[in-house]
Amino acid sequence: MSNYWNTRTKTLSPYVPGEQPRDRQFIKLNTNENPYPPSPKALEAIRAVISDGISAGASLRLYPDPECRELREAIAARYKVTYDQVFAGNGSDEVLAFAFGAFFSSDTALPILFPDITYSFYPVYAGLWDVPFRTIPVKEDFSIDYKDYLIPAGGVIFPNPNAPTGRVLPPDEILRIAAYQEKQKRVLIVDEAYAAFGARSVAGAIEEYPNLLTVHTLSKSASLAGLRVGFAIGNGALIEGLCRIRDSFNSYTVDRLAQAAAAAALRDTAYYDGTTQKVIAARELAASVLGKLGFTVIPSGANFLFIRSPKKSGPDLFALLRERGILVRHFNKPRIADFLRVSIGTDKEMDAFLAACIEIEDAASRRFQ
Ligand SMILES: *Cc1c(COP(=O)(O)O)cnc(C)c1O
Repeated sequence: MSNYWNTRTKTLSPYVPGEQPRDRQFIKLNTNENPYPPSPKALEAIRAVISDGISAGASLRLYPDPECRELREAIAARYKVTYDQVFAGNGSDEVLAFAFGAFFSSDTALPILFPDITYSFYPVYAGLWDVPFRTIPVKEDFSIDYKDYLIPAGGVIFPNPNAPTGRVLPPDEILRIAAYQEKQKRVLIVDEAYAAFGARSVAGAIEEYPNLLTVHTLSKSASLAGLRVGFAIGNGALIEGLCRIRDSFNSYTVDRLAQAAAAAALRDTAYYDGTTQKVIAARELAASVLGKLGFTVIPSGANFLFIRSPKKSGPDLFALLRERGILVRHFNKPRIADFLRVSIGTDKEMDAFLAACIEIEDAASRRFQ
């Protein structure tokens, strides 16, 4: 706490990202990065920016396109929407932060709604923008009941698939929420960070539901977490609202390298279909092995599994895996303190993870015999 801080800075409770260790080689299954490299075409696009012009990197002298035209056109083509229905930003975290600022208000008596178990950045953005919120408990099996969101509110946000559970909501249930909230002119934000791994996007419904904003990222399915590109799809008025917030903050949030690489990545669907299928196959295999070991495994449509050991507490299993060089994510929160979120790695990384689980669980059973 510093005397130089204003009241806002003093009262914030910032998000704590998963560990990015620098000291030793871990098998990193803790931040839902993709284990496969990005499309070679994305890397080529970066090289082209660097080697352009009379002297290498000439265009880096210049500010990037504030409109992100090429990138937004690639997104529009991919999702079959129009250019003015797309917003691009510096990671979907930034897009989400802008969306909270643009659509969720501190001056309404009604709180926004999101699940009690969900992406832990939402309460942080609510705090930053002074938006009152109410959490809705997910069911015992961690599924979301869409009917819980058919109530007057300041707006609604959740990820589909949900994080960190991996649970998927079908499009028709999401659109019921959109329809209800539209009647009161409230925005529904669906954070589709993991949709490529097992949920159907509702981006195609934005014409019918002008209050629906879907948020997407290249960090997970496109293997480009280091590039920082995210985007939103919604009707033109919502996109304009996001632009108003962005242009009151920083007009150039997506740099030249990122715009070029992200556009190339979005066009290379063939490459990413391959890596996504490998991640899904590894997830299903790991889920079945863990199930046989007696773990509780929540059905996942994402690139991670949410699991509970039959014998070990969450913190214990986390520590035992860490000792074996495997990093996963533990959330010290009510209802989920005994669960771990395990990002899906390469087949080899998953073999190492599963071998460690077998060894740990075996040792635990021997101790009680
Ligand atoms: C990873 C994640 C994001 C953030 O993605 P970035 O584009 O890397 O900022 C947003 N929402 C959810 C639910 C995520 O898991």
